[in-house]
Amino acid sequence: MPIISRSAELSLDFLVVGGGIGGLSVAYMLQKAGHRVRVVEKQGLHAPSAGLRIPPNLSKILWQWVDREELDKVTTRCVGTPMHSLHTGKNVGYLPWKPAVMAEIGGEFLLMHRQDLIRLLFNLATEVGVIVDLDTTVTSVRPGTAHDPRPTVTLDNGGVLAADIVIGSDGCNSIIRPVVVGEEQHASASSLTVYTGTVNAHNIVQDAELAPLIAHSCEDWPIWMGDRHSFSVAYQRSSQELYIGLYVWHRPDEPSSTGEESWDHSVATEVIATAGYPPIVQRLIKMAPHFIRTEFTPRNSGQCDWVDTTGQIVLLGDAAHPSIPGGQNIASMAIEDAVVFGSLFSHLRTMEQVPSFLGAYQELRQPRCEKVGRSDIKGAELMALPPGPAADARDENIRQQLQEWDEGMLKESFEEIAEIFGYDAGDAAEEWWINWGRFHETAGEQPGVVVSIRRD
Ligand SMILES: Cc1cc2nc3c(=O)[nH]c(=O)nc-3n(C[C@H](O)[C@H](O)[C@H](O)COP(=O)(O)OP(=O)(O)OC[C@H]3O[C@@H](n4cnc5c(N)ncnc54)[C@H](O)[C@@H]3O)c2cc1C
Repeated sequence: MPIISRSAELSLDFLVVGGGIGGLSVAYMLQKAGHRVRVVEKQGLHAPSAGLRIPPNLSKILWQWVDREELDKVTTRCVGTPMHSLHTGKNVGYLPWKPAVMAEIGGEFLLMHRQDLIRLLFNLATEVGVIVDLDTTVTSVRPGTAHDPRPTVTLDNGGVLAADIVIGSDGCNSIIRPVVVGEEQHASASSLTVYTGTVNAHNIVQDAELAPLIAHSCEDWPIWMGDRHSFSVAYQRSSQELYIGLYVWHRPDEPSSTGEESWDHSVATEVIATAGYPPIVQRLIKMAPHFIRTEFTPRNSGQCDWVDTTGQIVLLGDAAHPSIPGGQNIASMAIEDAVVFGSLFSHLRTMEQVPSFLGAYQELRQPRCEKVGRSDIKGAELMALPPGPAADARDENIRQQLQEWDEGMLKESFEEIAEIFGYDAGDAAEEWWINWGRFHETAGEQPGVVVSIRRD
């Protein structure tokens, strides 16, 4: 369960670097569990952003954290996805989210503005007593030493803050990650550029050809599939905005992209080459005042530790598992990390438990994040297949989805998605506690109980 009702017997000081989605969530969970938490965030509450996808495994958590009515005001429910060709503009088919499948999973597919989620999480965290320093940048982190055993972070204003544990949740361009995992080999060039932007719905209503898009996309999120390019839109009724996303995959032989893996870069709409897209897509892109441009560069580092060698600095969210920008599960993976982390530390009674809790956090979260991350990449690649047999087979499959699913198809499809969307992060943490964690204090007497942080 993502709600914590117990207070840890031993209370620690946590310093969270980065008050984004994962940072604010873990701060909320830990403070609720009786710890003292401070968050340092380099931006304010209104950093430019666009739409975030909230898959069922995350909507289930948010429904328990936030009043349902309040959440309904800032989210749009998705019931299905019309699929179009990015070459011809023609419809290929429709992928419905079957109500029977959603009911079984216990969540829904939602969309919300990142700023709205940040605001909700900020309120949750500060209401339970988390201290959040906004507009403050962490410039470096230092592990504890024999002389000064607590880890510290240095701020851009010259301040130095110490804590028992530092959580690096500073996103895809993390400065904490290299301190934990060392220097990493990146693939030589970015494999993907993602542009995200918003269009004011009032402008769309004025355009007779585009207006139906808003009416239809209230509960549908259309996707256009092209050769190494894909384009998607989703309408947010509460803010009267259309979120748009353009994915451009690079060929291995293409020159390196000049962009950066970061959400800080706004680019003019004119930099996007729209030639060859259907007129409706071109017009939509031109209506966005500007775009955030980010890149995705896969690492070659394989599995790495999320906890530093001192056991005092730990990674969470994109800093731990950098994932495809704008992916279906990026927010859900960061918040699931927070739920598992907070649930484990709600059982803290002695300092000796800390290494086993950190080890359990990584062991529970790393395989899941890798699996879900691969699925997100596969899904995005599928939308941008070059012409050929694979793209034809995909289109044929989409066409078949229009027919009513029989029981066999429903079962097959359900099994595929239940693993990702049916997951309950709080239950996973509690299961570990019941099976392993509670024996920690007598671990010496419990054969087979591993209490150290894993070091591969
Ligand atoms: C400004 C911004 C806009 C975004 N817009 C979108 C979007 O439109 N669509 C989408 O799908 N995803 C967006 N994302 C990414 C998305 O929020 C994450 O990929 C995902 O939710 C995982 O959350 P996270 O907490 O790991 O990372 P993030 O949500 O990226 O949070 C990381 C936080 O760390 C802060 N930070 C980084 N370095 C430091 C430092 N040195 N000191 C202090 N703070 C630091 C950042 O400002 C950020 O708030 C955006 C991220 C940011 C930062």
